[in-house]
Formats: sequence, C-alpha cells, structure tokens
Amino acid sequence: TSPTLIMSRFWSPVVHNLTPYVPGEQPKLTNLIKLNTNENPYGPSPKVQAAMQAEIADTLRLYPDPNADKLKAAIATYHGVSPAEVFVGNGSDEVLAHAFQALLKHDAPLLFPDITYSFYPVYCGLYGIDYRTVALSDTLEISTDDYRQDCGAIIFPNPNAPTGRLLARDAIETLLNEHPNQVVVVDEAYIDFGGDSAIPLVSRYPNLLVVQTLSKSRSLAGLRVGFAIGHPALIEALERVKNSFNSYPLDRLAIAGAAASFEDEAYFRQTCQAVINSRETLVGELTHLGFEVLPSAANFVFARHPLRDAATLAAALRERAIIVRHFRQPRIEQFLRISIGTDAECGALVKALEELLSA
Ligand code: PMP
Repeated sequence: TSPTLIMSRFWSPVVHNLTPYVPGEQPKLTNLIKLNTNENPYGPSPKVQAAMQAEIADTLRLYPDPNADKLKAAIATYHGVSPAEVFVGNGSDEVLAHAFQALLKHDAPLLFPDITYSFYPVYCGLYGIDYRTVALSDTLEISTDDYRQDCGAIIFPNPNAPTGRLLARDAIETLLNEHPNQVVVVDEAYIDFGGDSAIPLVSRYPNLLVVQTLSKSRSLAGLRVGFAIGHPALIEALERVKNSFNSYPLDRLAIAGAAASFEDEAYFRQTCQAVINSRETLVGELTHLGFEVLPSAANFVFARHPLRDAATLAAALRERAIIVRHFRQPRIEQFLRISIGTDAECGALVKALEELLSA
C-alpha cells in the first residue's frame, strides 16, 4: 500500500493541515562549531552530574514522583514563590504545549508577534486555537500598544526569539493591567542573559504565567526540563492537562539533576556572565565587519550584513564547519541568528566571516 493512500485514509484532518515545527539541525558530525540552537557552551554545574549519579545508584527501578515535588520546591525556593505556584515539564516546549491547551484556547484569537518562536503557530494548529499575529515594530521590537485589541490571550518570548530584543518589565506590567481578563504568557527561555524576569509580578497579577527553561542558562538542554510560575489556579489548569497526557513527564534523573542545578548559584552566575561577556565581544567584532546587530539580551545575536545575502553566508559558513541559523521568513530573511559559543568558537566564526567578506 502506498504511503499516500495510508495518509489520506488514516491521518486525522488536524495532522493533514499541520505545518510541522522544523527544529534546528542537530548534526551527527561532532567536529562542527555549533552555533545554531542556542545551547550553552559551558555545560551544567558539576553538582548536577553528582546528583544524577547518586540517583542512578539504586532508584531507577521505581517510578519517579509524578509531582516532582523536590524540583518544584527547589524552583519555588530559588524564585521566592510557593510550590503551588510552580509547574514543571519535559522542556519548556512541553510546558508551553500544556499552556496552549489549558490557558490559551478561547473564543477570541490568541495574539503573538509575527516574528517569534515558530512553535507557537504549530501548537495553535495542533490544538485548534484561533490566533492573530501582531507585527513587530520597524526596529523589530514588541510594541505593547499594538496589543490593545480584542483577544483571548497573549503569548510572547522575552527576550523575543529569534531577535533577542528585550521588552522592559514596566511594559509587561502595562500589558497585564490592560488585559485583566486575559492570560499573558511570558516565555522567558533567554531571560537570564541580561533581562529582568517577570516572576516578581506573579504575586500581583493572577493573569500572568511565566515560563522558563533549564536548557539555556543552566545548560541542560539534553535533560529536557522547563517550568512555569503563576497563580496556583493557573498552575492547576496545567496540572490537569498534564495528568491527562502523561503522569510522569519528568524522569528521576531529570528531577535530581534539575533540582541540583538550583543549588549552585555561583556556577550559574559565572557561566551566564561569561556568555554575556562573549556576546558583547562578538557584537563589537560583527559590527566592525559591517554587520548590523540587534541589541541582544539573549545567548545569541541576530545580525545582517547590508551587502551580503544571509542564506549564502550561512551556507559558506557551513562549508567551513560552522553552523548558524537562518530563517526563510519575510522581514528577517537577511538575518543570521548566531548562538554565543566559547570565545574560541566565536573567534573562529569571526575569522571565517572576515575571510568570506573579503573574498
Ligand atoms: N521558548 C523559546 C523562545 C525557545 O527559543 C525555546 C528553544 N527552542 C524554547 C522555548 C524551548 O526550550 P526547551 O524545550 O528546551 O525548554
């Protein structure tokens, strides 16, 4: 039987109509300089590995705690909230998926920026959520004024992806005040690289849900842990969806390793600062090469060269074993998104660009 026939006969219409999310490349080659998916070059705290090894010793036979209480307690203590205000999931992608189902599906459309994390429209397609995009400003910033319209809910990353631009906490507070009857989800995947988190607003705004990940600033992309902080009643909605989907989203190793990462503040601060310092150096060097670089509060920069085609540059870098991200999307197709690597990796990138630009 042909695959086409199987698809047309057995696939649900939702799958037929779904434009799937295209993840950044995870190459099998190991000798590449990988600056394409915003991983942290420094690796997690040594305490994470120690905690996971202790966990391996004799508990893998047993199911994990379905509520991941230990991790929730660690996150709650770290962020100064109560465990009832914390939800954890298998990467922030899963946390977001549950938020889309539990909190963002309403009769009126969900609003998010036209240039943003490309998973959002995919979740809308999957869960049948009506949405409307709001154009970024000329400077590729989120302008909260443009969100003054009827809507069912709002979601955006802060800093935004893939632009790296930060929205000030005051502007988020204005948005929350203007939409008291709508949930506002702030996806803070990159907040630890120079932004102010909206978490302190949670106690005053029951319509705010803040989502974070351990994949970037805590260098645990491989462990798949994300969390949300919000009013206990918002968290309860997420728990309900989660329990109807997979009662054990986090395995024992993830719970142990993730909890331990919150116990090494010195390592966390030091590695975040190292990434920020390398970013500032890279911004200077790219600017020197003639790139226009957007101000970034993330562990990546978004840059374009006025005289060079971005797709061509990305392909030429790839030939030199350096991979960066390029999006074929209106308004940003001349940009490259470059993750911040070690200084040596950033140096190799700058050298390669220098050669390509002088050719
Ligand atoms: N939100 C944004 C804005 C992201 O860029 C990413 C990373 N692709 C995620 C969420 C998901 O991260 P993770 O699932 O690794 O927590």
